[in-house]
Amino acid sequence: WVPVRPINTQYDEPFVYGCQDPEVAAKAHPRANAAFVILARNSELDGVLESMKSLESRFNRWFNYPYVFLNNDHFNETFMEGVKKATSSKVEFGFVDSSMWGFPNTTDIPEAKELIAQQGDRAIMYGGMESYHHMCRFYSGFFFNHPLLLKYKWYWRVEPEIDYWCDITYDPFVYMEKHDKVYGFTIAIKELRETVPNLFRYASAYKRNHNVSSQGMWEFFLESPPEPEQFEEQPELSPEDQLPSKVQHHEAKVDDNAMEGENYNMCHFWSNFEIARLDFFRSEEYMQFFREMDASGGFWAERWGDAPIHSLAVGALLSKTQVHYFRDIGYRHTDIQHCPGNAPGKQLPRPGFSPNHQYKDALPTEWDQERD
Ligand code: GDP
Ligand code: MN
Repeated sequence: WVPVRPINTQYDEPFVYGCQDPEVAAKAHPRANAAFVILARNSELDGVLESMKSLESRFNRWFNYPYVFLNNDHFNETFMEGVKKATSSKVEFGFVDSSMWGFPNTTDIPEAKELIAQQGDRAIMYGGMESYHHMCRFYSGFFFNHPLLLKYKWYWRVEPEIDYWCDITYDPFVYMEKHDKVYGFTIAIKELRETVPNLFRYASAYKRNHNVSSQGMWEFFLESPPEPEQFEEQPELSPEDQLPSKVQHHEAKVDDNAMEGENYNMCHFWSNFEIARLDFFRSEEYMQFFREMDASGGFWAERWGDAPIHSLAVGALLSKTQVHYFRDIGYRHTDIQHCPGNAPGKQLPRPGFSPNHQYKDALPTEWDQERD
């Protein structure tokens, strides 16, 4: 996949400033080899239509990208007909079979189910819901190899019940390609600590055991380094030979997200919006990362989300210049949202900057400012 490029800019600028006619923009380039990906249940049709309505009116009525719907059950006629009426683009429906969904045959299933039930007892968000664990593992290690996605190079992830606030007047795939970007996000927030007590230790072990050298993104996920005396106080976390091959759920402390003096700041890209290259996930490096995370049992013993999994892989494997912050894309899911007019920062005059379309957050001093 993409060669590493030196970090040559401090800021990750929006691709396009100012207004442009999306109809003209759509005709200016051939479409990228890309599709929307929506995993959903039949029961979520209304939420899916809500998302499509927003996406079509804000973007896709000009750009006409196809949709791939995936489900671990078969989509019914009502769902398929409903969805087809909501777009003039090509739509495909795929079944996710047991090779990509559910417990692998190496798992002790009664034990895994018990660990999941215990997370429910501890009121960990979605922790007691087995299907949610399967969904997270599917999005972590499989969706990109689904037969319907193999022909695509790029995807844009969409969920039921999302909104786009602003018109998206350019083709994000084309611009990502042009700028050698691999992964794009619009919201970065902190993960619920109790869902991933051991995640960072295993991610960090992958990075160390494979001599993956930081290309500038890893630091995005770190607390500032601890004081030396703090370091001394947690010697049991440092030696790599003490990381058990399985997540030791019963011994996991709430605050285990430390390894070799590095502490996970819990930041993750909110993966229900994602525009990225599929071949990043298909790469040997990513797959090795996934296999090692999976072998630890953390998808069952804890409730590892695909968002922190994707994020720490991006941290380990990509350079800062390969990651794009879509600060110009207004997005909402549940009660979490990113509005281009909200973010702090001063507005600077710049060439081509149109007063018609004022991004009040135009230039925060650091592009990763949203981490808090
Ligand atoms: P949240 O956004 O973290 O609250 O999680 P969601 O319930 O929205 O699930 C994330 C995505 O996975 C959504 O696109 C859901 O439609 C989908 N999803 C979650 N669980 C299942 C499942 O068991 N089957 C299917 N087909 N889709 C699921
Ligand atoms: Mn959701």
